[in-house]
Amino acid sequence: MDSARVRHQQYVEGKFRLADAVEDYLERIEAHKDLNAFIQVYADEARERARELDARRERGESLGDLAGLIIAVKDNIVIKDHLTTCASHILENFVSPYHATVVEKILQADGLIIGKTNLDEFAMGSSTENSYFGATRNPVDPERVPGGSSGGSAVAIAAGMADLALGSDTGGSIRQPAAFCGVVGLKPTYGRVSRYGLVAYASSLDQIGPFGRTVEDVALFTRIIAGADERDSTTVPTEVPDYLQELQRDPRDLTIGIPQEYFQEGLDGEIRTAIFQVIDRLKEEGFTLKEIRLPLTDYAIATYYIVATAEASSNLARYDGVRYGFRAEGVEDLQEMYFRTRSEGFGTEVKRRIMLGTYVLSAGYYEAYYKKAQQVRRMIKDEFDAAFREVDILITPTTPTPAFRLGEKLDDPLQMYLSDIYTVTVNLAGICALNLPIARTQQGLPIGMQLMAGMFRESDLFRLGHFIERQLTPSTQQVP
Ligand code: GLN
Repeated sequence: MDSARVRHQQYVEGKFRLADAVEDYLERIEAHKDLNAFIQVYADEARERARELDARRERGESLGDLAGLIIAVKDNIVIKDHLTTCASHILENFVSPYHATVVEKILQADGLIIGKTNLDEFAMGSSTENSYFGATRNPVDPERVPGGSSGGSAVAIAAGMADLALGSDTGGSIRQPAAFCGVVGLKPTYGRVSRYGLVAYASSLDQIGPFGRTVEDVALFTRIIAGADERDSTTVPTEVPDYLQELQRDPRDLTIGIPQEYFQEGLDGEIRTAIFQVIDRLKEEGFTLKEIRLPLTDYAIATYYIVATAEASSNLARYDGVRYGFRAEGVEDLQEMYFRTRSEGFGTEVKRRIMLGTYVLSAGYYEAYYKKAQQVRRMIKDEFDAAFREVDILITPTTPTPAFRLGEKLDDPLQMYLSDIYTVTVNLAGICALNLPIARTQQGLPIGMQLMAGMFRESDLFRLGHFIERQLTPSTQQVP
């Protein structure tokens, strides 16, 4: 299957009709129904929009950078007059009265949104098994998880049900499923992409980001969705570079760091070998490589699960049965209404997070947990700042193992949390990182490599990622 970049070009040149493409993609979505990647598919609307775009093209109107492309959106990002469920019973019937900024930008660039993808409830999880609508399956091996929480979006790309997809990444939710499904995914710098219209999980960590089949596709999509937004005061008015242009620049000026702490026990042998093969090739190509130390990595999971749950407990207080979605029936008084609505409306993992978060914020524990975690977070950030004074990019694995089996970690939350060990630091530090598929295990499961860069250095990730993809690992490009 062609990349989004190529398909856009072909569309603009009149090589296919979007109305036909929509039928093909809808057929593929139907054929892969068992993967459970989508929560809603907008078949009729997509047909209508395709006809409109085809007509505009026939009239010779100029078309935006996403014209001809079919896009899937994670179901925690709102689209006006459409359901946004967050894969939760509590929001099952919630219709948004407004568009997320990223959705507006997609529509302005003439993209076509085909549907909303499945996720772990409120983006809490690493396998897309915590969904009220059932687990999503990995197209490479349907007995395995696609990763999470943006599992549906990763699968939509891997199985050719969309050209581009949006996810959100609070602790790895774009990069980890991208690694498990063998696609490219970016966690942009905190403040690079507007969060307006993203249902909040942990606001100081959340960031919307793109999935695609190639680095070029992800670069193209990032350029569209990035930028300051007056409706999200945490966005930063740094200029958005022309990322596609940047890709043309030779990346050999970039110094690469290898942090030891990301290659210790617990890392799968095949993943380690695959990553060091790429590192060796980079040396042969003349890149400068350095060993880097990031000793605070040991504290990352503990810190993340305190900060994230604290913010989640506060953000999710708004689901009280009064303002949004589901409300329990047959209750006697207000107290019982709150109690039953939240007991029946949230799933197990979400409740666990709310309880953990409430605990670490409560009087007497706040200093010992939340405040301490904030201090450690700051130290982790300082450690990254120091590393990025020495090197431009860090290379690590994205995940400690390839995709695991459905059900394997469901009863053991700690094991599930540990699958984020290499990704959460990036969110704590607010920097950017890319997952790049580089190889397959003997069993055929995708292996992902993570490239990290300092704040607003997405161009560097794309330049190096594009080089590795084109020059060193061309056989891993996804062809569903
Ligand atoms: N797996 C992590 C968690 O459960 C990250 C999720 C995410 O990035 N949204 O919190």
